[in-house]
Amino acid sequence: MIALNERRTQVLVLGGGPAGSTAAALCAQAGLKTVLVEREKGPRFHIGESLMPDTYHTLRRLGVIERMKGSRHTPKFSVQFVTETGKESQPFYFFENNPHESAQTWQVVRSEFDSMLVDNARVHGAMVLEGHSARDVHMENGKAMGARLIPKNGPEFDIAADVVIDATGQTALIANKLGLKKPDPLLRKSSIWTYYEGATREPGRLDEGATLVLATQGKKGWFWYIPLKDNIVSVGVVSGLEDLFPPGGPRDLGAIFHEQLECCPAAKKRVMPGKQVGPFYSTKDFSYRCDHVAGDGWVLVGDAFGFLDPIYSSGVFLALKSGEMGADAVINGFSSGDLSGKTLGDWGPRYLQGMDRMKRLVYAFYEGFNFGAFIRKHPEMKRHLIDLLIGDLFKDSVDEIIAPLDAMRAEMLTMPSAV
Ligand SMILES: Cc1cc2nc3c(=O)[nH]c(=O)nc-3n(C[C@H](O)[C@H](O)[C@H](O)COP(=O)(O)OP(=O)(O)OC[C@H]3O[C@@H](n4cnc5c(N)ncnc54)[C@H](O)[C@@H]3O)c2cc1C
Repeated sequence: MIALNERRTQVLVLGGGPAGSTAAALCAQAGLKTVLVEREKGPRFHIGESLMPDTYHTLRRLGVIERMKGSRHTPKFSVQFVTETGKESQPFYFFENNPHESAQTWQVVRSEFDSMLVDNARVHGAMVLEGHSARDVHMENGKAMGARLIPKNGPEFDIAADVVIDATGQTALIANKLGLKKPDPLLRKSSIWTYYEGATREPGRLDEGATLVLATQGKKGWFWYIPLKDNIVSVGVVSGLEDLFPPGGPRDLGAIFHEQLECCPAAKKRVMPGKQVGPFYSTKDFSYRCDHVAGDGWVLVGDAFGFLDPIYSSGVFLALKSGEMGADAVINGFSSGDLSGKTLGDWGPRYLQGMDRMKRLVYAFYEGFNFGAFIRKHPEMKRHLIDLLIGDLFKDSVDEIIAPLDAMRAEMLTMPSAV
């Protein structure tokens, strides 16, 4: 139980996922009194297992890169796309662009990865309250003043704060309270996933940890195939909301998943030798974002600000990145004595620009974009494509891909699908 004299803090971070733990660690490291509140007691299950290589830079700043290197998480060197007819693109190896150790990333078991980051926030000096749910963020004239917390065991209480960082993921406490969430009508998707032991893994050190993205027939959706440690593979389908869950009531998740697997022979073939070792999970309508990353005394980071789509595995990268950018704005706000929304949100335009670069590629995929055909037509664009897949979204040079990408999107909208 938090002591009475500790019910006031400088920085209150709500949510102990990658975004919240990053923000809490960096604020505490900068000497700010920081409390990190997480409703679960770790380690807790979470989806989002495939990292992008550019997570490296935030993980290094957090001081956990050596722990990652020493971990048993599966090394990931590439992404590969498989068309609806089973034709495989060349793997997009990250080291082709970036001959540095950061070109290798990991497929992580999120319960372990997230617990590591929460522990790290504690080591940097944040007070961590696990098993505490934030029920509400108190606001006065649009300024965040603190939050009401409900411990799993014990009476609820208020905690006051100079700044509240909302990192509650899709719960998006502040965005929901203020009505800031804007769903993306072009990305109304749903997903069902599970885990297999002993399913096929690509041979060879460079390929066995690759993320595979396999289109379903008719290109309505796609499967992810993410090899984790201990011979487990995470396998999930993403498709239009009503493809997986048509109106007319709930249906058995397993039946829907297997129906989709029949539409993706390349995924079915890989899963066949395996044994299912987890339940089916599902989620829907997960893509949205807000107009602002901050207001007076509050900041939104990670999914609590917005989520794009799982197709390129950008979620954890963006959570870490926004956790870092948001924390830097908070640290700057305290040192300048200005905790206004303008100062706390000064990183927003740059962050949105990076997210938008990724969004173009997401839209292209759902319009039937074919990676192999694009690279055959524009081999000089491969480096930009790899940059986007790495997470190198915040430099202007990647914009060179926009014109050829848009031209191919326009072509695709008028032609039958190319392979
Ligand atoms: C189907 C699907 C597949 C995905 N696959 C990938 C992938 O392969 N790679 C990838 O990078 N990303 C993936 N993502 C995205 C990824 O899961 C998220 O983007 C990422 O977890 C966001 O991190 P976060 O810290 O913002 O939020 P979260 O990781 O969701 O953390 C939020 C935390 O806040 C806590 N919380 C919530 N409400 C409260 C409250 N009221 N009080 C206190 N605590 C609270 C939660 O318990 C949670 O621990 C996927 C997403 C989906 C939907």
